[in-house]
Amino acid sequence: MQNFFMDILFPQNECCVCREAGRYNTRHPWCNQCQEKMDNLRTAMPTCDYCGKYLLNGGSRCEECQAEKPPFYIARAVGPYEEPYRIAIKVLKFLGRRQLGYCMGIMMAEVVREEPLFWPINLIVPVPSSKASMKQRGFNQTEVLGQQIGKCLKLPINAEALRRIKETPSQRECTREERERNLWRAFEVKDKSKIRGKSILLVDDVYTTGSTSRECSRTLLDAGAERVGVIVWAIGTGY
Ligand SMILES: [Zn+2]
Ligand SMILES: [Zn+2]
Repeated sequence: MQNFFMDILFPQNECCVCREAGRYNTRHPWCNQCQEKMDNLRTAMPTCDYCGKYLLNGGSRCEECQAEKPPFYIARAVGPYEEPYRIAIKVLKFLGRRQLGYCMGIMMAEVVREEPLFWPINLIVPVPSSKASMKQRGFNQTEVLGQQIGKCLKLPINAEALRRIKETPSQRECTREERERNLWRAFEVKDKSKIRGKSILLVDDVYTTGSTSRECSRTLLDAGAERVGVIVWAIGTGY
């Protein structure tokens, strides 16, 4: 609801992705061309059966999932981590445009709703953000997305289920090995009774190497979760 007040207070005069002039709002934050681009990209390439990564050479499973089965039983994204998906998440995250979570959450919920492998789901758990980014942004973008997904799918969310216990350096320039090392035991479940026996939908914004999703899934499974599925906004490409 508060989104719609924001629309009145701060009308948007350009597409949040390509900056095309026009009238935009929470329900319609980007232009039709950007929406069309997003729709076309979704099915432009085959994806890995397990992790949902876009496969540049085709096939049905990425190299990583072939080498080792991931701890989550399925991961899926709305689209590839390319424009306009990449820009939308940046605007949400770095420009603090929380209202974008409304549309993005609806699109993520749609992917979950339409993939029977995800179901049943008992609980939504967002990936916790670092203290530094919480301080900077004042909100956790995965929680904003998770809340919207929960509303759409009528599922409870527990944003406190996972806690970050180790601050990790910026992961952007790290190799996969460095990321895994940094993230090793970076999360914990405070109250295992809230997780035990549950089929969990883990929510993250972006899946590139998948290190965060894997580590969070492992932590939830160690705490007694029955299984973990992962939904992200955008996912990288691989072989
Ligand atoms: Zn646009
Ligand atoms: Zn894979």
